[in-house]
Amino acid sequence: MDLPFGNELPQIDILIVGAGLSGLTSAVKILSKEHSLNVKIIDENNKPGGQLRGKGTCFVSKEQKELIAFITQLNVALFQHDSHEQTLSRCWELDRGLTSVPAKFELWRYINMLDMRMKKFSSVRYEFRERIPTMERHIVTNLFFNLSREFMYQLVHLASGMQASDINYDEFMCLCSTSGGLNVLIDLLLAMPESIMSLSCGKLLETLHEKLKYTEILNNVKAVKVEHFKNYVQVTDSHGKKHKAEAVILAIPWDKVNKLQFEPQLPRQFRIPSRRTKKSKSMITQYSMRYNKPVWISQGYSGQFLNIRPLVVGYALNSGEYCGYMLHTVEEADSVRTTVLDLLAEQFGEEMLDPLTYKQETCELNTAIHKPQIKPWHRVIWSSSAAAATKDRNLMAGAVESGVRAAINALFVIRPQVVCWRDLQDVQDKNRYVGPSPGYFAGLLSRLNLYNITFYGVFVIGLICLLNFGYGAIG
Ligand SMILES: Cc1cc2nc3c(=O)[nH]c(=O)nc-3n(C[C@H](O)[C@H](O)[C@H](O)COP(=O)(O)OP(=O)(O)OC[C@H]3O[C@@H](n4cnc5c(N)ncnc54)[C@H](O)[C@@H]3O)c2cc1C
Repeated sequence: MDLPFGNELPQIDILIVGAGLSGLTSAVKILSKEHSLNVKIIDENNKPGGQLRGKGTCFVSKEQKELIAFITQLNVALFQHDSHEQTLSRCWELDRGLTSVPAKFELWRYINMLDMRMKKFSSVRYEFRERIPTMERHIVTNLFFNLSREFMYQLVHLASGMQASDINYDEFMCLCSTSGGLNVLIDLLLAMPESIMSLSCGKLLETLHEKLKYTEILNNVKAVKVEHFKNYVQVTDSHGKKHKAEAVILAIPWDKVNKLQFEPQLPRQFRIPSRRTKKSKSMITQYSMRYNKPVWISQGYSGQFLNIRPLVVGYALNSGEYCGYMLHTVEEADSVRTTVLDLLAEQFGEEMLDPLTYKQETCELNTAIHKPQIKPWHRVIWSSSAAAATKDRNLMAGAVESGVRAAINALFVIRPQVVCWRDLQDVQDKNRYVGPSPGYFAGLLSRLNLYNITFYGVFVIGLICLLNFGYGAIG
């Protein structure tokens, strides 16, 4: 596509739209390679941080080596996650009720089966077969108990930003293979086992700010229009102000990219057909509160909490601090505090209803069902964990991966002389799904579930009875 020539002079070298972890990472990386560049960041929110805002602690797994290296470089401490004394139990809805044991059994079998099949989707295939069942259908045909089905519906929703009825099996498997697999997502977003590490999101954001203290970060500025010229890019914000830059990094999720007005129109390879979803958009509210003592410990709980519908996750930090999040619709936003406190009080006692302090932040749940966008469009470069990460997508590690890639791509455009051969590694598609790769027999066994075991069981018993009867009749 031929771009028109613009006849103005850009005032900025690189404009970054979105001050989430990926946008901030890009800025830090760019300035570490060439500190004389004029970098500007705009964000539609009233403070930077994106999804990290208002979150007490984030979890990192030992396999996320690039993220750990980035955090270590920033001098932010990583702690071995301490899920409290071993004697204390977790408080998950999945552990309660008569059907809990078989429901958990079939659920873990199902999750492991999906993880075993994921390698097939790991080449960022994103070429979907026709007539593939929706995830809802797949779950219903593989899981018998309501408890395990509901857990899977919520997990699909959390990972993809879509209801299980709106995403098909192939799309979900492709997405999960770029997220590190279902077990990784469960560990980092729901279970937080002792094997993973934690870090303070506040400290991470503070350090990134410190590194960017001479960089202009404008809050409450939403990008609405992107005009792409041969020699620069012009971004118009919601106040009508025009920002001209030699290169632009759009560090925002892909559904937000699709809401921008592009001139000329986005080339076909970047256009994703908009999808009609049956439900309203989903929001996620992160809460953190403080009590004068850890009430849950006196009840014998570690503080780890999981309610399936609505999805409310909770975990205890130090002595009296309690954090977590709730998945909800726009209409339910006002009742989050009451819902969370009521659910926690039901489990840990009435004292939970009166925290000393209570804070919450709401953001839209990102959808990530498209192919990761790693190739820039001339001077427009895509970033964000949901839009462009090819490993640990929708996680912090994905935000850092896509942020670093976008930084190198932007430098390629405006200062190619500072890019060295080592940086080329960062631009590559990571595409390294390291989940289990089963042998033929293990793969076959993983297909067994309560449905087909019951079917085969009844069939074999029926056959034995029939043979017995037949022999009896002959004898
Ligand atoms: C509840 C919850 C718990 C999580 N826990 C973990 C965890 O334990 N471990 C882990 O690894 N990951 C975790 N994550 C995921 C991790 O936080 C995110 O993947 C990461 O922060 C995404 O960063 P990002 O920069 O790609 O996107 P975002 O954080 O979404 O940033 C995008 C930014 O762009 C801005 N923006 C959007 N549109 C525009 C526009 N038009 N103009 C200007 N600005 C715009 C937004 O305001 C936002 O600030 C969690 C996420 C959530 C929601």
